[in-house]
Amino acid sequence: MKKRNPIIIIIYIAILALVFSWMLGVFNPKDDLTEAKVVELLEDGKVKSFSVDSEGVITLELHEAIEGKTKLRATLADVSAFRSENEDTIQFQKTYGELEDYDYDQPTEASAFDLVLPLILVGLALLVLWVILVGRANGGNNLSSFGKARTVLGVPDGKKVTFEDVAGADEEKAELQEVVDFLRDPEKFTQIGARIPHGLLLVGPPGTGKTLLARAVAGEAGVQFLSISGSDFVEMYVGVGASRVRDLFEQAKKIAPAIIFIDEIDAVGRKRGSGLGGGHDEKEQTLNQLLVEMDGFGRTEGVIVLAATNRPDILDPALLRPGRFDRQIYVGAPDAKGREEVLKVHAKGKKLDSDVDLRSVALATTGFTGADLSNLLNEAAIMAARDNRPALNMEDLNEAMMKITAGPEKRSRVRLVRDQKITAVHEAGHAVAMYRLPTADPVRHISIIPRGQSLGSTWSTPKEDSAHMTRNEMYERIVGLLGGRVAEDLFLGDISTGASNDIDRASKLARDMVARYGMCERLGAVSYLDDGEVFIGRDYQSTKSYSEKVAGTIDDEVKLLMDKAYAHCKQLLADNKEQMKDVVEFLLKHETMSGAQFAACMEGQPIDEQSTTSLFDITEE
Ligand code: ADP
Ligand code: MG
Ligand code: ZN
Repeated sequence: MKKRNPIIIIIYIAILALVFSWMLGVFNPKDDLTEAKVVELLEDGKVKSFSVDSEGVITLELHEAIEGKTKLRATLADVSAFRSENEDTIQFQKTYGELEDYDYDQPTEASAFDLVLPLILVGLALLVLWVILVGRANGGNNLSSFGKARTVLGVPDGKKVTFEDVAGADEEKAELQEVVDFLRDPEKFTQIGARIPHGLLLVGPPGTGKTLLARAVAGEAGVQFLSISGSDFVEMYVGVGASRVRDLFEQAKKIAPAIIFIDEIDAVGRKRGSGLGGGHDEKEQTLNQLLVEMDGFGRTEGVIVLAATNRPDILDPALLRPGRFDRQIYVGAPDAKGREEVLKVHAKGKKLDSDVDLRSVALATTGFTGADLSNLLNEAAIMAARDNRPALNMEDLNEAMMKITAGPEKRSRVRLVRDQKITAVHEAGHAVAMYRLPTADPVRHISIIPRGQSLGSTWSTPKEDSAHMTRNEMYERIVGLLGGRVAEDLFLGDISTGASNDIDRASKLARDMVARYGMCERLGAVSYLDDGEVFIGRDYQSTKSYSEKVAGTIDDEVKLLMDKAYAHCKQLLADNKEQMKDVVEFLLKHETMSGAQFAACMEGQPIDEQSTTSLFDITEE
């Protein structure tokens, strides 16, 4: 956008200049008459008034129009001569004739400067425009900094980050420590002939702290840190990306030892010759330049390239071969211990109530990334601040967690009693089914208060982190997801649209089981689905790698699996009719039900209506 501004300004100036010159009468012809004709008109009594300005231009106003004009102009050769020669005529006309008014020495209407200025402006505008157009034609490099890499020297936004600020991630840190050591003391490694990696690629889902880690490396190493985002290479004009890559490496070599950090490298490092649509030439040139530069610098030059991406699968293989990004460091979502540490790091700047137990928060937040956890604490802090409380407490965290996972509460939404009943039955169905499924996560909270897009929610959090999901667990998850729909079917005799999201998720799980993880007998252990949506970074021909016959079998198997899960769920809920009824009644009365209340209800024990439990009430086994 910035690049286009000058042109707009120039056009603007040109238009302004034209308008001004029009208003100043620059383009009006000055002389309508000769001096002799002026005298003639005066003598004939046709002039109503006249004025002479300091430039000697006389403007006549006539009683009757001549050729459609009542105002005429002429330039006098000599004003004082005109005055003295015609004094008598003028006096006569003024006294006895038709001349009403006259005036000498009026200020100039349009000076010579006014005449020339617009022309200068227009000329200047055209000149600048021409320079820009020529610059474009020459590949855009003529404009001073266009081909320069937009690097940020030093840590962005100035705050120094060290490994201290990155919680958990001990293995990742250890591996990066090597880089730090090398930059500090390259001799130690080169002496025994060790080859220091050229480039390291940080790979992992968004929000797991890749950018943070890279910044910490810079902070630890105490060397120059050049950071740039992959998208900064991408520009509309061909050749710019490549020249920026060249510039980036030149800068780095000048200030070595240094780290170059390319964030979101997938923006430039996509597989060549792939994807939809045309216009890859620019990207490929940029990538080629990157490959060349990574080969180009010697190992002793003390430049290491760090890059981060969450899509390693779409990177060009040439980029990943040894000698370029020869090491990949996987940065994943933290485990319970890691989460606790991340929470501690982010709790530092916040005031926590004494009841806050970060350990149990960590246990209940399986699958949360560092960014999620930081967000959780922040939401809780906002809630405490909104209520003017000095410190955030466990309840804030509980509410923040619910808000993050299911959207903000919408108590004011008008709800029909009928809708509430459907919602209560639906949520009770999920909860009861999950309670009776051996591998399902314990139910922590049930609510029929609308949140985000949903009318009600049932929260369950896993007892522990588990890296694998077995076939049985996946199947039982499908059964649990169907609980809402089955309950409506069974107890209301009709089904609603409320279950559409559940059914989407269940079907996707079933399809994954059948076609991705090879979990059904008929198709065997063959994976027919890859991660390939048709995506700009990959070939769309490769997404479907099976025959129509297999496609039919997949559909059949998915249907079979879903039907089995549906029947299973129906059986579970039918066997727990009494409990279903109790849960629904409780929900309609109280709107929410805690995990403990629900468990008591299921076991046929008295329900403590006052008891409140949170999502974080997890007992460690
Ligand atoms: P990525 O680059 O992997 O998408 P970031 O490095 O930008 O993620 O992380 C986003 C934010 O999440 C960080 O600014 C930080 O506040 C928080 N965060 C992520 N991982 C951690 C961690 N291990 N320790 C502390 N904070 C973390
Ligand atoms: Mg990042
Ligand atoms: Zn549901």
